[in-house]
Parts: sequence; C-alpha cells; structure tokens
Amino acid sequence: MFFELNETQRLVQQAARSYAQKTLAPIAAGIDREGRFPREQLLELAELGLMGVNVPEEYGGAAAGAVAYSLAMMEIAQGCASTSVAMAVNNMVAETIVRFGTEAQKRKYVPEITSGRFEAASYGLSEPQGGSDAAALRTTARKDGSGWVLNGSKQWITSGDRAGVIVVWARSGDAGSKGISCFLVEPGLPGLHVGKHEDKMGLRGSTTVSLAFDDVHLKGSALMGAPGEGFVIAMTALDGGRIGIASQAVGIGTAALDAAVRYARERQAFGQPIANYQAIRFMLADVATELDAARLLALRAAALKEAGHRFTREASMAKLFASEKANRASDIAVQVHGGYGYIDEFPAERHYRDARVTTIYEGTSEVQRLVIAREILKD
Ligand SMILES: Cc1cc2nc3c(=O)[nH]c(=O)nc-3n(C[C@H](O)[C@H](O)[C@H](O)COP(=O)(O)OP(=O)(O)OC[C@H]3O[C@@H](n4cnc5c(N)ncnc54)[C@H](O)[C@@H]3O)c2cc1C
Repeated sequence: MFFELNETQRLVQQAARSYAQKTLAPIAAGIDREGRFPREQLLELAELGLMGVNVPEEYGGAAAGAVAYSLAMMEIAQGCASTSVAMAVNNMVAETIVRFGTEAQKRKYVPEITSGRFEAASYGLSEPQGGSDAAALRTTARKDGSGWVLNGSKQWITSGDRAGVIVVWARSGDAGSKGISCFLVEPGLPGLHVGKHEDKMGLRGSTTVSLAFDDVHLKGSALMGAPGEGFVIAMTALDGGRIGIASQAVGIGTAALDAAVRYARERQAFGQPIANYQAIRFMLADVATELDAARLLALRAAALKEAGHRFTREASMAKLFASEKANRASDIAVQVHGGYGYIDEFPAERHYRDARVTTIYEGTSEVQRLVIAREILKD
C-alpha cells in the first residue's frame, strides 16, 4: 500500500483547497441564501483546470487523473457544495464524451466545457416517472432520414438551463436496456423546453430543471456511441460519477465536522467548553473516523479507475458509505450546535441540507446496495 500523493495530485489538491477556503467558503452561505448560480466561480475553477481534471490535455483538460479529481472534489465541496455539484456533472460529461464521442464530438464540446466557455454541461437520464429504473426510460428517439427526432421529458437535470451541451438518453429501439441510445443535444433547439427551477432543500445555488422534448430534430452527428449502446454509456458514466459524489459527500461531511469542532471549542456549558464533555468528544471522534474511512473508499475507487481496473463495486461502496456518513456528520454537527444548529447564522444547517441529496442522486443508497450485491454475487 502506498498512501502518499504524487506531485500532480498534491498540486491539484492544494490549488482546489486554496480556492475553496479563500474564495468559496466565505461566499457559500450567500450563494445558498440567494439561490445564486455560481457562474463566476465555475469559470475560475475552469481556469484552475478543475473542469476536466481527468480529461486529456488535447481537449483542454488537466490530465491529472481520477485520484486528483476525487481530491479536488473533496476540497471544492468542503468550500461550497452548490458549486461542487456543477463541477461534478461538468467533469462527468467531459469524461463521457472523451470516452464515447467521435473525434468531431470531442473537439466540438469538450474544450468548451473544460475552458468554462460553456457555463455548464448536463447529464439527462432521469425521467418524471422514475430515476432508479433507468432502463425503463420513455423518452423516444425516432430515426428521421439521417437524423433523429426526440420526444419525451427529463426530470431533475442539474444545470439543465445553463448547459452548452446536454447528454440525453432516449429509446431508439425495443423495451429494456438494449433499446436505448445516447445523444448530444444543444440548447435552444426548436421543441426543447426548459421547465421551472426546482425549489430544493439544499444545493440551492445549483439549478435543477425538467426538460421537455417536443419533436426535437437532431442531426445524425448528435448520436454518441452506437444505436443501442446508450445504457452502457450511462452506467459507465455513473460509475465514475459515483466517485465524484462520494468525494463531494466527504467534502460536505468534513465541512460539517470542522464547524462542529470550532463550535465545541467555543461554546461554554456548565462552566467549561462543551468540547470537554465525553459525549461531545465521542461524537466528533466517530464522525472523524467515518469520514476518513469514506475518504479512503473514494480514493481506492479512484485509484482503481486510474489504473484501468474494474471499479463498479468499489465506486458504489464509496458512494453508499460516504453519502450516509456525510448525512450523519452533518446531523451530529447540528446536534453539537444545539439551538444554533437550527438557524442559518451558523453553517451546520446548510451542510445538513446539502448532504441530504447525496444518498439520492447518481443512484440512491438502495440502488448502490443492489449494485454491490450484484457484483458480490457475480464473483
Ligand atoms: C438535486 C438533484 C439533482 C439531480 N441531478 C440529476 C441529473 O443531473 N441528471 C439525472 O439524470 N438525474 C438527476 N437527478 C435524479 C436522481 O438521480 C434521481 O432522483 C434518483 O436516481 C432516484 O430516482 P427517483 O427520484 O425517480 O426515485 P425512484 O426511482 O422513484 O425511487 C423512490 C424510492 O424507491 C427506492 N427504490 C427504487 N427501486 C428500488 C429497488 N429495486 N429496490 C429497493 N428500493 C428501490 C429508491 O431507493 C427510493 O428510495 C437529480 C436528483 C436530485 C434530487
């Protein structure tokens, strides 16, 4: 086992940490309160190379690898969870196009994402009637001469109103996972309607919208991968995406722990700081231990990915564990703050709201358990 970061990983981590602590952390409460999309901050992250951490340099990426990406995500999420979710989706979409796109698709879209010229990129898989059972999606893609016509709707699309490109999955063939194809859709096409912003519990600086496709005509060149290959593309993207969300959860949980530690040192009860009480110390010790374990799971999945090994099981384990422990960390942070944990004068309640979705998106905890069990039983 080798636990040292290499030079590149250390530099990426330092750059992300410095930006997160100096620039993001002081404005995160304002971004949340005002529900402000962090456009300027995302552009600055692009300038730091964080919109394509694991993307080759020829497409504008930093080519720093999956471990560096995980480290960067932990830092940025610790500074501002809303900003980190847009960063996570942008990186996932850029990597997916690099992996499955044609050379023309890569050259057209990936540098726009990594440079920040696109405000964002989106991943359009979930639909109103279901997210977990993605193979049952109903949006259709009908062949029309050399092109395609999309009809249907998508739900919960992160940055869907801001995206320069949206990866959309639609049914081009029979029922089931083999009848799904994947398309690169540009905004503003006739028939593509962006729905209202969801009024979310947390991640309030990130936009989440529905998309309606009403006879949206696409050129043949919009197809990514082969017809029927869409489900494989979606699941491959999600494997990597789950490392991102595990890392995001570690970041949010760490921010919650830091807030709890700060408060426990300052707050006096019965004539001494509450940090002196064993009940508080044990809670902090448990949270610190769980977050460290989550960090290691995320980095192991990233290291396997970087080495070219299979990492589906490990990515799901990391996502399951990190998201559940981030929820516990932020719950405990609220508890340590007492009544002050319940008001927005302190960051604990924001971390609690931001952490909540990590057990839901990119596959719920239940779906992660299904994936892990399937992988174990397969072996
Ligand atoms: C803020 C936010 C941002 C999102 N961003 C995106 C995005 O950018 N792109 C995108 O495509 N999607 C996105 N999503 C959608 C997200 O991935 C889905 O919400 C998630 O996959 C769950 O799908 P669902 O909401 O339809 O719940 P359902 O699938 O209806 O599940 C409801 C409940 O049933 C459980 N369940 C379902 N099937 C099983 C089973 N077989 N066994 C046991 N339990 C089961 C689930 O775990 C859950 O508890 C986002 C969601 C949110 C909230």
